[in-house]
Amino acid sequence: MIEKKKLVFTTNLKFYKKKNINNVNVFKSFENKHIFFCEGLILLKKIRNKFKLSYFDENNELFNYINHSVYIGSFKKKNIYAHNISKKKTASNLDQIDFFKNKIKKEDLSEIFFCDLRKVFLDLSIKDSYIAGVGKSIINWKVENSFCPKCGEKFLCNDFKWENKCINCKKITFARVNPVVIIIIINGKKTLLGRSYHFPDKLYSCLAGFVEPGETLEMAAIREIKEEVGIKITNIKYITNQPWPFPSSLMFGLMAKTTNKNLKIDKNEIEHAFWITKSKLKKILNSKTDKISAARKGTIARYLLENWVNNKI
Ligand SMILES: [Zn+2]
Repeated sequence: MIEKKKLVFTTNLKFYKKKNINNVNVFKSFENKHIFFCEGLILLKKIRNKFKLSYFDENNELFNYINHSVYIGSFKKKNIYAHNISKKKTASNLDQIDFFKNKIKKEDLSEIFFCDLRKVFLDLSIKDSYIAGVGKSIINWKVENSFCPKCGEKFLCNDFKWENKCINCKKITFARVNPVVIIIIINGKKTLLGRSYHFPDKLYSCLAGFVEPGETLEMAAIREIKEEVGIKITNIKYITNQPWPFPSSLMFGLMAKTTNKNLKIDKNEIEHAFWITKSKLKKILNSKTDKISAARKGTIARYLLENWVNNKI
């Protein structure tokens, strides 16, 4: 039995989203909690060396700069909202982040800071990572999709819904989720680790790629692995899945076998890949070597690798 709770996202989280909500004045009740994004960064705080979401009440000056909002859902009878803030071009010569940094400073909120969510995502609690991840996905989508794709009308940003509805042609558009396959490939007693150019130093993981139109998960896995390292995989089976908000993906964790050992790495796709034995990988996962690190804790790749070294998959 695979323990899903080891993943960052869990099916056990009691979170009720998309409660029927209209243009009510949600800022009246103290039961509302608000998180803020700006230019793709999130406002967080650090307490006793732990990253946490920074919630704001409705008296905060940042509320004057909201241009996109979404109601994420309710958690323990608190309604949680995510907002994007943006200053008008004429408001100041400062860039967006510096402008809001000054605002925060003035309010003596010095422990609060703008942060790239990707860097701290796995350090947040499961609840905070869920809220921040959903907020980031929907807010990013709203920022990047301000106009109706059918008639070009600008969307009004006056409600908290996940979808956009055009006031002119009535078309409704929804945020997209992009399916990604991530594959642990087994060759006898070895598995394959690889790294992309954008990975932090020394970090290796399972190979992954986006599913293209018309493909099954298996077809996508076969194509991606062939493209990246030139080997043929078989016996593909599904293990688990995980939403991943960078940018807005649903990761499908697969396991596959191969008898090909010779890698033909496409350097346009990945930086490096190599076969590793179970015992060596175990040492890396237990941080007993600092030469490389394998897939950070909480990620689906880590989950696949840990379960394989422990003979659970
Ligand atoms: Zn329209």
